[in-house]
Amino acid sequence: MSVGDLCWGGVPVGWRRRHLLGIEGMSADEITLALDQAERFKSVLVRDKGYEYCDRKVPLLAGKTCVNLFFENSTRTKTSFTLAARRLGMDVVDFSASTSSLSKGETFIDTVKNLEAMQVDAVVVRHSCPGTAMLLSENIRGHVLNAGDGAHEHPTQALLDILTIRQRLGRIKGLTVALVGDIAHSRTARSNIWGLRALGANVILCGPSTLVSKRWESLGVVVSYSLDEILGKVDVFNLLRIQFERQVIRPFPSTREYSHLYGMDTARLSRAKPEVLIIAPGPINRGLEVTPDVADGQHSAILDQVTNGVAIRMATLWMCLNSKSI
Ligand code: ASP
Repeated sequence: MSVGDLCWGGVPVGWRRRHLLGIEGMSADEITLALDQAERFKSVLVRDKGYEYCDRKVPLLAGKTCVNLFFENSTRTKTSFTLAARRLGMDVVDFSASTSSLSKGETFIDTVKNLEAMQVDAVVVRHSCPGTAMLLSENIRGHVLNAGDGAHEHPTQALLDILTIRQRLGRIKGLTVALVGDIAHSRTARSNIWGLRALGANVILCGPSTLVSKRWESLGVVVSYSLDEILGKVDVFNLLRIQFERQVIRPFPSTREYSHLYGMDTARLSRAKPEVLIIAPGPINRGLEVTPDVADGQHSAILDQVTNGVAIRMATLWMCLNSKSI
């Protein structure tokens, strides 16, 4: 088998986005196109020996350049975007904010204009300030992919979460998905809500009232303050990390109390649906949001999410960089 034999079918008709800034406003069809494309790429990433062409590369973007512009810490997302870009044959450059001329007083826009002058094709950006990806997209010619902007959006995280659910449970429509934990400070929560609602899932937000406001119900979700009360109604629990780094005041008296009321453990799992799925965006705090036996147990798809992340990032890079030709 060769690259040419792989049936990519061109960029999916219907994908018209030059940039991936967020999930808000994306249609069910657009999300499905990204998921389907990621499935095709995943089949290359995880296939076994026996293929002549088995170096797991699909050099559809050979010769293009991708810059990682990360102003916040990242393990999974940055590595995953880097691997995705390399699997597509791109050259990847890491930009380090702390050692750049930003620390000498250069503005953000001047910095990216200089990067653009080096003929960069794609910029993957993570920043603590909501709207950074959009600002960037309005100021450079290249394609911008949002790798997380403050507590606003994290589109590739939501897409990989949804892909994992679809692969494990076979559908999204009609499922009940609970996002548990620090909703207030979570970009993952926002992107998941838009994506899951667009695809017809029921969404429950569950956590302490200091981290989940009833006002979220205007987004078409249900708010619950008791994990124990929703256990038997939920198909998927997405256990969000407590975002200590974004919290101005401490939202609960102790981590012990939080895990007592909202942590997923074996006792709670035994009262959930038999086929319940456990996912988490990572990093997970073992013993806080989830106990180790649940995180590593048979209901958990946490490591599948990481594999799917590379496929989703390949799909979105490839689709955005080809969007002009549609
Ligand atoms: N990795 C995800 C993010 O960057 C989730 C988290 O940090 O808790 O938002």
